[in-house]
Amino acid sequence: METGMSAEGSLAYFEKVRVTEIERLTELLRMPTISAQPAHVEDMRGCAGWLANVLASAGLESKVLSTAGHPAVFADSGPIDNAPDAPTFLVYGHYDVQPAGDLSLWDSPPFEPTVRDGVIYARGSADDKGQFMIHVAAARAWHEAGRPWPMRLKFLIEGEEEIGSPNLPALVESNREALGCQYVILSDTARHDDLTPAVTVSSRGLVYKHITVHGPRRDLHSGQYGGAVANPANVLAGLIASLHDDQHRVTIPGFYDGVQLPSRADRQMLQETGLAEEMVRSVTGVERPTGEDGYSTAERVSIRPTLDVNGMVSGYTGEGASTIIPAWAKAKVSMRLVAGQDPEAISDAFDRTLRSRCPDSARIEIESDAACAAYETPRDLAVIEDALSALEEVYGRKAVLEREGGTLPILPMFKKLLGAESLMVGFASPDCNLHSPNEFFAVKDFEMGVRSILHFLNKVANRVP
Ligand SMILES: [Zn+2]
Repeated sequence: METGMSAEGSLAYFEKVRVTEIERLTELLRMPTISAQPAHVEDMRGCAGWLANVLASAGLESKVLSTAGHPAVFADSGPIDNAPDAPTFLVYGHYDVQPAGDLSLWDSPPFEPTVRDGVIYARGSADDKGQFMIHVAAARAWHEAGRPWPMRLKFLIEGEEEIGSPNLPALVESNREALGCQYVILSDTARHDDLTPAVTVSSRGLVYKHITVHGPRRDLHSGQYGGAVANPANVLAGLIASLHDDQHRVTIPGFYDGVQLPSRADRQMLQETGLAEEMVRSVTGVERPTGEDGYSTAERVSIRPTLDVNGMVSGYTGEGASTIIPAWAKAKVSMRLVAGQDPEAISDAFDRTLRSRCPDSARIEIESDAACAAYETPRDLAVIEDALSALEEVYGRKAVLEREGGTLPILPMFKKLLGAESLMVGFASPDCNLHSPNEFFAVKDFEMGVRSILHFLNKVANRVP
């Protein structure tokens, strides 16, 4: 393949068809693809078929893949003839959307896309239709400009993300070969701020527990029995208190096994761009933010694992006083994990620790819920550099490396089933009313997104020998 090739042809093509691409997006936004509501089953099917046609018209071989739930759409450029070492990229997106919610809170109907001041208002405009259509428009521009694919390019657009992707692992498992790729690229996150682009490079894992401490057969009179039997509420409170030391470190043996810290440079960047203590104060009203000793607020919510009680209930909490010893006490606990921690090992260690610390005078029961690993994109991948520099060229600013404190189960799933590394490049505004009334995506966000992806494709093309 030629080297030093520029993205000009495809960029020029895109500038000519910008309006048509926005019209195509508008057509997609008119489809009420609410995955949670059975009334929209036909809309889902219709949308999947429509997308398969759109992907086919962008030069890809495409088809609808059925699942036990809503269908997904798959497309593939096919093998790259004269560049056997070219990488394979899979664009992941989702065409389903959140329910519209209270219609009276929308300034224009959620499924009648309306442009006001260069901004498209519609349900799904940012999450995720507008964002994955950036990749479709870029693929079309590349293809129409007559350039050979710089990589094998595949698409997987699912229809069940907003309901937790229940059928996605099985779909990926049974289509392993077709979906095979080195990299998954997804645009379902936001920019860092209004002017600064971002690449998200990690998400935390999750282990969730339901705990019950059982005591007497029934609630007891605290005057009659208090002091003679274990009080489950006291026991549970003690167990929970024992889970952190006075430096706010989790005391479960082995909890920090495998945890690695990012490079000094990445920590420095996190310090400059991550969650600031002042922000915590103004958003939460907490006067004195706190957490694990030796780490900043930005680090505590991104590169460090945490343990939190999500709820606790026991005994009498109604009006007035009731002097009882409760029969039981319950708590829910979540642990956010970082790369290197094994969710199964953490789950077992948690159970072992609590059981061993629970006194014989009470009985503890622990149930496990979700267990999902963290994900971290290896920082030495050339494609991260390509993405960062493509964004910088289009936005005229250095892109920020973002770390997601929440959990994105599809990322470790792609890693496990396909061996693929994921790259998250978000083009939506950080306050785009995601899942809320008046969700929006600016026409400019779409256009800058397409230009960024075209620059990115070009950089990958220039790397391929
Ligand atoms: Zn989404």
